[in-house]
Amino acid sequence: MQRQLTDMRQASGWYAILPEPAPANRLTGHQVADWVVVGAGVTGLAAARRLGELQPQARIILVDEFRIGYGTSGRNAGFIIDTPHLTEHFGLEANRRISRLVRAGLGELERLVHTHQIECEWSPRGHLSAVVGSNRLHKLKATAGILDAIDDEYDWLEGDALAEVVGTHHYCAAVLTPRTVLMNPAALARGLGQTMPGNVEVYEETPVLRVEPGSPAQIECAEGTISAGNVLLTTNAFVTRLDFLKRNVFAMTACASLSRPLTEDEQAAMSGAPDWGITGVATVRRTLSNRMLFRHGGHYTGDFALSEAMRAELQATHMKGLRKRFPMLDKLDLEHTWAGVFCMTRDWESVFGRLDRGVYASLGYCGVGIARGSISGKLLAEFALGGESGLIADVQALSGPRHLPPEPVLGLGVRARLAWYKWQTRAEG
Ligand SMILES: Cc1cc2nc3c(=O)[nH]c(=O)nc-3n(C[C@H](O)[C@H](O)[C@H](O)COP(=O)(O)OP(=O)(O)OC[C@H]3O[C@@H](n4cnc5c(N)ncnc54)[C@H](O)[C@@H]3O)c2cc1C
Repeated sequence: MQRQLTDMRQASGWYAILPEPAPANRLTGHQVADWVVVGAGVTGLAAARRLGELQPQARIILVDEFRIGYGTSGRNAGFIIDTPHLTEHFGLEANRRISRLVRAGLGELERLVHTHQIECEWSPRGHLSAVVGSNRLHKLKATAGILDAIDDEYDWLEGDALAEVVGTHHYCAAVLTPRTVLMNPAALARGLGQTMPGNVEVYEETPVLRVEPGSPAQIECAEGTISAGNVLLTTNAFVTRLDFLKRNVFAMTACASLSRPLTEDEQAAMSGAPDWGITGVATVRRTLSNRMLFRHGGHYTGDFALSEAMRAELQATHMKGLRKRFPMLDKLDLEHTWAGVFCMTRDWESVFGRLDRGVYASLGYCGVGIARGSISGKLLAEFALGGESGLIADVQALSGPRHLPPEPVLGLGVRARLAWYKWQTRAEG
């Protein structure tokens, strides 16, 4: 009996509603490969695919500690955001670069989903960035200002026009960016993993314990070892467990819940469009399969295992947030509540490029990484093969985070900022 690494009690709702996958193929024994990609989230999937396309004769190994879709790429809210988001910290030039990258990332995912007919509730509905209170309208105006300055398309919605989309007058106003795609992220990741080029070998439930830079680099896995020409680390914040980037990135955890499908009566009671997605202080979605998603808050920890007490507390908070917006859903239950880890940096810069002999990395998207990770993974593969391009220049210009302060200063600082944000936004949850 193999040890069970993928604990379904901690799975995301997106993953839990998918059919059970075939048993995992684990890496054992000693292997020799040209390339190893560690981490099969959107970044690693894109990197391995691109290596496979560019080097069809090479042996490429993609490993993940869990099942594909079980990690944060399948734990998020499912918005493939193709505009700069949470980027008021950046100047205009950086926002233009982000815009080029995320558009390319969405374009790439769109092409793959259509080519391989990946079923993931793909819905090009757009993305509503919304505020509840008029005291936060300045935030929305800042978002609109950035979009104006970089000539990105958007609509300003308020009052009945907004309620017609989301079925509630709870929100004061929203910026609608029309090209964002909503989907089931675990289904997308799984579909991408199942459609790799023929020379990419996928090993799941294969934790990497150590990476030794060199030529070749040595990779120690739980049940085997690999000697590889080059290693690409696409492990999100977990990179620090492999002793890389400890002073550059840190983990944050965010939690979400998914409801059971709405009954016919509940659907009739909800007006608005059949699916939509709102981000703001809380993220809310109505999905194509008629479920409600709610996400709120962040925690300073890098562990996505929730205690039962914490899960119950989060579920109650998420339910309260949903009922506040949709009183007609007073009988709705949340079936799944989970946590996911994202990779933060001090100044919102990401990590991209060579770390050491034979070791490359792309990570640190600060909470908005589906489009960004998808394009960065592809570009990392091209960069590691000596490629140059405008998009590589963009991603390089946005990377190189400043050093973090040591603990306990870092923890105190992050917790203080989280507490301050929670207090400032207490009316919007
Ligand atoms: C609740 C939540 C909501 C979010 N919503 C959105 C959203 O709507 N839109 C958006 O764009 N972004 C969103 N994000 C952020 C987004 O999910 C991440 O930025 C993105 O998943 C990062 O992708 P990645 O491939 O870099 O990392 P991951 O998806 O974390 O992939 C890294 C993989 O590496 C594996 N791994 C790590 N260490 C090892 C090891 N030692 N050995 C083997 N494998 C290892 C992990 O198992 C994992 O599968 C959200 C995040 C959270 C937590």
